[in-house]
Amino acid sequence: MRAAVLDGDLGLRDVPAPVAGPGEVLVAPTKVGICGSDVHFVIDKTATTRYEPIILGHEATGVVVELGPGTAGPRPGTRVSIIPLVSCHECDQCARGRTVLCRVSQCLGAERDGAWAELIAVPARNLVPVPEGLPDELAAVATDSVATAYHAVRSRGGVGPGSRVAVWGTGGLGLSAVGIAKTLGADMVIAVDPRPEARGWAAQTGADVVLHPDEALSRITGMGGVDTALEFVGRPETVELALRSLDAGGTAVAVGIGAGKVTASHLMTFVVRERSLVGSYGHEPADVGEVLELMSSGRLLLPKAVGDVIGLSQVNRGLERVHAGDTGGSRIVLDIQG
Ligand SMILES: [Zn+2]
Ligand SMILES: [Zn+2]
Repeated sequence: MRAAVLDGDLGLRDVPAPVAGPGEVLVAPTKVGICGSDVHFVIDKTATTRYEPIILGHEATGVVVELGPGTAGPRPGTRVSIIPLVSCHECDQCARGRTVLCRVSQCLGAERDGAWAELIAVPARNLVPVPEGLPDELAAVATDSVATAYHAVRSRGGVGPGSRVAVWGTGGLGLSAVGIAKTLGADMVIAVDPRPEARGWAAQTGADVVLHPDEALSRITGMGGVDTALEFVGRPETVELALRSLDAGGTAVAVGIGAGKVTASHLMTFVVRERSLVGSYGHEPADVGEVLELMSSGRLLLPKAVGDVIGLSQVNRGLERVHAGDTGGSRIVLDIQG
């Protein structure tokens, strides 16, 4: 089969097709997103895969081809989204439902072969059926970029009806967070980004107020602060701004990954105003199901979720565009047949 293999460089190769083991399913990916972490693996090398050569790609939707021995379903022909994190479902974290914290998890396209390929073998419990009518490319990005934002906004940030929310950094995930917060009933969603075009995308996605970071803290505290502040930039300075933008009892959620040390503002203020700072990473399987349902029913509209769909043969060009920030705030999605 044809696959995009990382082995120093990334290139298309003819490799043996995988075989579905017990409990696994063979899936033919149709549309698979290009994620920022793929750029780290291939171009800037700030992150590494567990081994090479490895097939990349972890944001996938496809069609079930064949069931492994003893696998009950879903039946061949079913359209599915693939949850990228393969968890053991046996360790203590998995037992309490925190599969994202599984002690021995493997992420597709990083720690085991991924979905930039004509076939992939994955555990059946990593598959979520795609609701009818939802296009493959949206079902693909739902599994990673949208579900990660959803986990941060809802599970970690506690956003619900009446919430006042600030989203710091409205590139890909931050933009999804804006739309998700509105869908969950937030009263006020404030989007903060230095780039005028990113503020425009946030307004298009439903932000009530868009602000430049230079004025954001004073404007937000002038409005009484927010209940939830989400940081998608991955810079300690922005995490601190997010914390300081909170009303009493508020929660700052750090989603962006970066280097450096977080300082939790003034200890006195942090304690007396009962502020929280939590991290958010990836998502739970239930998040993907809920996101697919919200997107297919039209309750969650993310006009910027998917940008260009390009052929798998163009993958290196796609990675360069993501690296250069030349995506218009949207995910580039690969057509595996192309
Ligand atoms: Zn990703
Ligand atoms: Zn586990």
